[in-house]
Amino acid sequence: MDTKIQINSLRLKRDFDVLSAIGADEFGGVDRPTFSAAHLAVREWFRQRILQDGLEFSLDGAGNHSAILRSRQAQAKTLLLGSHLDSVPHGGRYDGALGVLAALEVLRTIQEANLSLPVHLEAIDFTDEEGTLYGLLGSAALAGLLEPEALLAPRGGRAALLEGLQRAGLSEEGFYQARREPDSLAGYLELHIEQGPCLEQAGVQIGVVTTIVRITSYRLTFLGRADHAGTTPMLDRLDAAQGACAFTLQARQMVLERFSSCVVNVGEMHFSPGAFNIVPGSASLALEFRAPDETTFASLEASLMELAQSAAENYGLKLEREFLGRHHPTPMHETAQQAIQRAAGSSGLSWLSLPSGAGHDAQSLAQICPAGMIFVPSVEGASHSGREYTHWEDCVNGANVLLQAALSLAAV
Ligand SMILES: [Zn+2]
Repeated sequence: MDTKIQINSLRLKRDFDVLSAIGADEFGGVDRPTFSAAHLAVREWFRQRILQDGLEFSLDGAGNHSAILRSRQAQAKTLLLGSHLDSVPHGGRYDGALGVLAALEVLRTIQEANLSLPVHLEAIDFTDEEGTLYGLLGSAALAGLLEPEALLAPRGGRAALLEGLQRAGLSEEGFYQARREPDSLAGYLELHIEQGPCLEQAGVQIGVVTTIVRITSYRLTFLGRADHAGTTPMLDRLDAAQGACAFTLQARQMVLERFSSCVVNVGEMHFSPGAFNIVPGSASLALEFRAPDETTFASLEASLMELAQSAAENYGLKLEREFLGRHHPTPMHETAQQAIQRAAGSSGLSWLSLPSGAGHDAQSLAQICPAGMIFVPSVEGASHSGREYTHWEDCVNGANVLLQAALSLAAV
């Protein structure tokens, strides 16, 4: 393995600037929701770019776009490198785009260096990572994780999904044809901005993702009694708001003190009947929490539920819990993590291991092949907004680590 080859940072920057202009918005970011005009334009640009680079272009049934650099060994497995070119509405320029362009740049660099690898290399742009229509749609299809029932009620609505597919010239049946055999894949690597402040705060250049944390959500309803707010003595009230608010404050404190690797959020609260002069009879809240591994997850969940129960009892309230879904944490593959660590180390870059608090296509790929993720620092941790920014030097470092980690995994 030649550890000296490096990506062409000027060429990568040129591509990044052209890409950032497609769907550019007035906030300094990009607006490229899945299958919007800007998203279709960026897909077409990517296709043209691949052809200009003399690479093989491939489009699968799920609309995933790829550049392929074939191994001389026809029966070789494929090492996938990629991310996504769609954005949230008025998102940032780096989220997803950096990973796709760096993947393409890695292929070009290896092509120019005339390296003969024992794997096919594929730089892939996954369809609808951000969930305008469904979320991780292209990568789930490729990993064979799509359920027909889920496509009947996608989060963006069924009509939007069907309209979008039509605009992109895709069909629902195609999504099932996009499935790949796990045996055909050597692994998956994704370069992405951190979207949080850890690397910047630590002054570290590269993040090696250990696991993609996942989420549990509940609706909790505290039930008391609606009463006249003027005539009911304070101590006689069964005030649902008190229980809900006490829980919210205590949950934050508990996570800070006992679950430093976790986060909790009460994102919405609703009082009923909801008037100046009525003691709240019920208070419902939207609770979401995230943890990096199953053990911590289980302990956090049990502790939060206990806390809710005791907050309810302290105010003479009843508690109703509606479970709204759980996604398991997805660990990144040990071999991939080590390849990234070695790549960073041999490039003289500082690195640390950290979990990802956000979802990524890598969690789909991790179900069928060894998957790994490389993070680069996000200035002020900002993401999903025009404020999203990563120093160009960090983008180049990340792309070079992607290159070296890919060479290392290809040699396995
Ligand atoms: Zn992303």
